[in-house]
Amino acid sequence: MCGAICDTCHGDPDTCHDMPSPAEPIVDASIDLLLTECPLRYVTSDVWHVIELVEMMEKGALPIAGGVLDQAQGFITAARIILQEKAYWKRKLKVIG
Ligand SMILES: [Zn+2]
Repeated sequence: MCGAICDTCHGDPDTCHDMPSPAEPIVDASIDLLLTECPLRYVTSDVWHVIELVEMMEKGALPIAGGVLDQAQGFITAARIILQEKAYWKRKLKVIG
């Protein structure tokens, strides 16, 4: 979803051509958000990894063998947060599907 928010760099923060700045930040007062650099710079590789695991979970493949109760509590918490954020941004950006 970050690529959708920062639609100039398409997921690659090194090629971001319209990066927010202190003079021109991305602001969303409804969630107390103020970004002064590409949103993708806040998403580290470990976070992308968890997002990939959650996407696989959505397709039915859990990261640890077994059921939901076999998963680490940290993963369950992260999955809940990621799914809430995905739903929020889909509504906000009016993504269909
Ligand atoms: Zn960007």
